[in-house]
Amino acid sequence: MASISLRKVIKRYGSGASANQVIHGVDAEISDGEFIVIVGPSGCGKSTLLRMVAGLEEISEGDIAIGDRVVNKLEPAQRDIAMVFQNYALYPHMTVYDNMAYGLKIAKVPKADIETRVQKAAKILELSQLLQRKPRQLSGGQRQRVAMGRAIVRQPQVFLFDEPLSNLDAKLRAQTRLEIQKLHTELGVTSLFVTHDQVEAMTLAQRMIVMNAGRMEQFGTPEEVYARPATTFVAGFIGSPPMNLLHGRADGASFGLTGQSLDLPRPAPRNGSLILGVRPEHVRLSNQGSWALKVEMIEMLGAERLVYGRLGAALFTVRIAGTDPVPIMGQTVMVQVPAEHIHWFDEQTQARVA
Ligand code: ADP
Repeated sequence: MASISLRKVIKRYGSGASANQVIHGVDAEISDGEFIVIVGPSGCGKSTLLRMVAGLEEISEGDIAIGDRVVNKLEPAQRDIAMVFQNYALYPHMTVYDNMAYGLKIAKVPKADIETRVQKAAKILELSQLLQRKPRQLSGGQRQRVAMGRAIVRQPQVFLFDEPLSNLDAKLRAQTRLEIQKLHTELGVTSLFVTHDQVEAMTLAQRMIVMNAGRMEQFGTPEEVYARPATTFVAGFIGSPPMNLLHGRADGASFGLTGQSLDLPRPAPRNGSLILGVRPEHVRLSNQGSWALKVEMIEMLGAERLVYGRLGAALFTVRIAGTDPVPIMGQTVMVQVPAEHIHWFDEQTQARVA
């Protein structure tokens, strides 16, 4: 097991005038044994970052260290990592056993040792009864476990996961998430896990790196990222439905939007242009409230309902319990907002101010 350091890591594809910089200086210190999720929308650079740790992409600038070794110039095989891919990449003509054993055979690990490691991994992953099957005789979830087994038998210092669950259906994905968590508790191997799915990130991560357009927007525990998003991007990306973000002008305890001035339960941290953030689950429809919401649409989700409407001209979402009284479309209802759930962001930098 090992720590991982990313120091001012930059990646450019191409060179000279046509160079396209896709990672803009990422710094992160990952402790030995941590489970880190890298999350962000498609194209933000997650896979590129992971592939640079793996040694599948060159690092244009900066350093990546695994343990106390800078690995920039090392081949993937010398980095003591094991990677689990989205498409599993199993050999179709080999049995489950041979798929797991293959890398060890190539590395000339003694046969008895291979047998012990494969049997142990198979037991952890509940594959012991399936070792003589071929991949085509397995379900998607079982193939996924074989791919993990192949990583486990290598006994690497670091596991790298590149969207390993995206080919599974929703139910199996949830189940496999639990298995990965259990595996991490048992083996304690430092892990980097890439996904575009914020729910997957929130449920798996001990800490998460939220990426946007090649930059790290925030690095923190799921609780920190949810409770104190560092930027409007993180506020909008983590949490479903996303945080409401209202652009307006603060003046003491009032916040002027286009078409409505909101009373604030506590004065804004400063006057002038600001973005007010509040999550749909943190506001209530109540006659004691003072923000007037014109209801435009209601969605029933079972245990809860989403009420969409406008505060002045601004779109605003409220999440209410499925058992709460249902507002009527076209009517105006009052919204109550607790002071402790209001977030403030700078209009220029989009960074958190309070
Ligand atoms: P993600 O994994 O977050 O979807 P990627 O790391 O795959 O994003 O890609 C980040 C950016 O780098 C994207 O704009 C993508 O088009 C670009 N990119 C990825 N691979 C290459 C490549 N081999 N050559 C040029 N550009 C690339």
